[in-house]
Amino acid sequence: MSALKDFIIMKIGGSLITYKNRWVPSINEENLKRIGKEIGNALKKRKEELLLILIHGAGSYGHTLATLYNFLKDKDKKKILGFAEIQRLQNELNTIVCSFLQNYDIPATPLQPSSSAVMNSGKLISLDVSTIKGMLEIGLVPVLYGVPAYDKKLGTSILSGDEIIKYLAKKLRPDRLIHVTDVDGVYDKDPKIYSNAKLIKEINRKNFSQFKEILSTSVHFDVTGGMMKKVKELIELEGITAEIINGLKNGYVERVLLGEIGLGTLIRG
Ligand code: ADP
Repeated sequence: MSALKDFIIMKIGGSLITYKNRWVPSINEENLKRIGKEIGNALKKRKEELLLILIHGAGSYGHTLATLYNFLKDKDKKKILGFAEIQRLQNELNTIVCSFLQNYDIPATPLQPSSSAVMNSGKLISLDVSTIKGMLEIGLVPVLYGVPAYDKKLGTSILSGDEIIKYLAKKLRPDRLIHVTDVDGVYDKDPKIYSNAKLIKEINRKNFSQFKEILSTSVHFDVTGGMMKKVKELIELEGITAEIINGLKNGYVERVLLGEIGLGTLIRG
């Protein structure tokens, strides 16, 4: 991408835009409106300068159903039906997210990753990035999302937003990766469970080993792996700086898009 531009891939967690623990898919309109407004403001302020890809999680639009269907055997017809249902639900969520974003004049364009994704035992092995590049070049903001996808070994598996961010980062080499979630960053233990959890300001290749063990207990009830997996995968992205920030904090999404660093936990790969 052009040296004059700031190219950011930002993932907005399903825990922010939906009520993640609800069994019935439910949108968190308040958060979605505020985050949409902040992204819109940043794009206006940095007009031609900011290239942005957005990825959103599924939250209550996928995780509960996906967990349920995971209990069913591979060739069970219900699993295939589940694939179709969850896919359709994620598309609905993506349409809703894009319409909220478009309300703030963001050229948010729905992009279904599973239409070209090929997985192998839960790992994304190919995804068409040429359309994504082209969309960025003409000024669109592609909006991708976690979905069930075709898996050549397992039949189907979940292509998570975190897996997409990793793949796109390797292929497109953004200037920055941002994970927007519902906590201030990475802690030494789950801050929602332990009130004495301490925020870690930076994780890099040198200090990662010291956090590895404590973070291994940080597996959230989530089919896609939780916080430890996020950190581990980000640290593997050599030469790319990522930051995990709290999207519940007013103004943080806008500030990070305007170039501020250090609002959450920096992860230097
Ligand atoms: P998202 O839906 O935003 O992608 P996840 O649910 O995958 O986010 O991960 C964020 C959640 O991980 C937080 O809400 C927090 O409760 C939990 N968590 C578990 N361990 C940690 C940790 N060590 N540091 C920060 N968050 C943690």
